[in-house]
Amino acid sequence: MDDGVQHPTPDPVAEAVRQIRAHGERVTVARTAVLRVLADADEHLSADAIFAAVSRAAPGVHRTTIYRALDALERLDLVAFTRLRHDAATYHLAGHLVGGARVYVRCRVCGTVGHAPGDLLDDVAFRLAAEQGFALDPTAVALTGRCARCARP
Ligand SMILES: [Zn+2]
Repeated sequence: MDDGVQHPTPDPVAEAVRQIRAHGERVTVARTAVLRVLADADEHLSADAIFAAVSRAAPGVHRTTIYRALDALERLDLVAFTRLRHDAATYHLAGHLVGGARVYVRCRVCGTVGHAPGDLLDDVAFRLAAEQGFALDPTAVALTGRCARCARP
């Protein structure tokens, strides 16, 4: 699945594969394909969208195999998912593979879930801690609004 795109080093997929091996687990075609799809995605993806993308790159992989790969990667703390209100869960690479935790941004028009750098809310977290003693978990936050596509007049 070499698309010719230069990925920033260290490659999160290579790092994830290294950690799968370190856990004594198998590095399967499905697991690697799921990691690559998530690493290349700008958005968080539902399990169905991940399956569709993997099918394009590696036809013949069964849906249940992809779901099992997602479960295994989540158990290994390499993939995380978020479930926002009534939407299906969307998946993304774990924060430690991509240079830190992220804040989710969700479009209330089309439902797209994207992300912003995890330090986006540092000032907010600092004030909440200082003024209320409240420890904000920014990775569990979903900011809502309209995405670039939907905000266009
Ligand atoms: Zn939108």
